[in-house]
Amino acid sequence: MLDVCSQEARPLLTIDEALGRIKDSLSPLNDKEELALTKALGRVLAESVYSAIDIPNDRNAAMDGYAFDSRNIVDGTPFKLVLAGVSWAGRPFSGQLEPGECVRIFTGAVIPDGADSVVMQEQVRVEESGIQFPANTGTRRNIREIGEDVKKGACLIAEPKILTAVDLGLLASAGITHVLVKRQIKIAHFSTGDELIAAGQSLASGQIYDSNRTLLGGLLTDPNYLVVDLGVIPDNKKLLKDSFIEAAKNADVIITTGGASVGEADYIKEILASCGEVNFWKIAIKPGKPLAFGKIGGCYFFGLPGNPVAVVVTFQQIVAPALRLLSGICNANPLRFKAVCTTPLKKAPGRQEFLRGILNKDEQGEFFVASAGQQGSHILSSMSQSNCYIVLPKDCDGVAVGDTVTVEPFRLFI
Ligand code: AMP
Ligand code: MG
Repeated sequence: MLDVCSQEARPLLTIDEALGRIKDSLSPLNDKEELALTKALGRVLAESVYSAIDIPNDRNAAMDGYAFDSRNIVDGTPFKLVLAGVSWAGRPFSGQLEPGECVRIFTGAVIPDGADSVVMQEQVRVEESGIQFPANTGTRRNIREIGEDVKKGACLIAEPKILTAVDLGLLASAGITHVLVKRQIKIAHFSTGDELIAAGQSLASGQIYDSNRTLLGGLLTDPNYLVVDLGVIPDNKKLLKDSFIEAAKNADVIITTGGASVGEADYIKEILASCGEVNFWKIAIKPGKPLAFGKIGGCYFFGLPGNPVAVVVTFQQIVAPALRLLSGICNANPLRFKAVCTTPLKKAPGRQEFLRGILNKDEQGEFFVASAGQQGSHILSSMSQSNCYIVLPKDCDGVAVGDTVTVEPFRLFI
């Protein structure tokens, strides 16, 4: 792994460059486990799944109505057919349809032999002597053909894919009960800082409650992660080093917050260098410049900044994509689009910025975004009220009201 501790004089890495370096240094997990579908929601599919059957497996009715042979249609005139029986969903009509006959049929029921079309029940008149079909009855209507959803032998879902509820439904429709998924990533995380105390204790001057551990615990709530919360470590080099070495024995990934910057008590990069390797430790984003990435033995290490908003931004923009790469997912770019900005935004050129915004839509469907309020990297309250990032490119030197900006929604409600 590249050691670039002395990169201060060089230009900071962009997110893409940082992710490129992470990708180059990562070996995706190979281990798989078999899970019942009911346990597989959100997990990463490790082996493509093929269908052993046609879906649907029978020709069946797409409507409640009457199944008939369209050779009975008399051009442009109404016609009457005798009712020969009923085909229920799950209880097919067992007979053979003779000329001049039709069968009552319900949605999903098998089309009887001899029938090739279904007329909607609303279009016929039921009479004592038979079913009266209208003049405009069409041929080959309302039938779901064998294999029209999935053909026997076709790929249902290709690996790697994060399994959604819809995916599980699709697999279930093929009678699949179990899938192979990537094993969970073992992640250890802890906060660092002498000033941190846990909720429940009263605050002395200079102390703050540790918000990052709760924050990260939430961000790490994902079925692909097996998370261990290692608590708070004070700004003590020996304790920090021992904690790193101990955590690296069991975890695939360590995530810390705080101590990643250049202050007198910011030891993270130095300790990482002493017990492992530093790949990079600064990136050109705001908030979140001090971000250390490296390795301790076989364990990947992410030293995030201390300020809570920077923790969220660096987690979402760097750590989460890296964790997906570890599970073999290479192409999961966030959805971004343009919106008109309704508040001025200050920015100095140099770093890509992720401001917190409130995105909304007018009656014409045009997107508008406003600053969520104070933009300091310690201001969690405005982030809590926001629903998107306003992503400003590195060279941008500010935004005026009415300018078009790029937004990345992270909450799909207003
Ligand atoms: P540092 O990177 O350690 O210099 O921390 C930067 C800022 O983030 C300081 O104001 C810290 O007090 C704050 N901070 C660090 N860790 C936490 C935490 N776990 N919860 C809340 N704020 C934190
Ligand atoms: Mg600190």
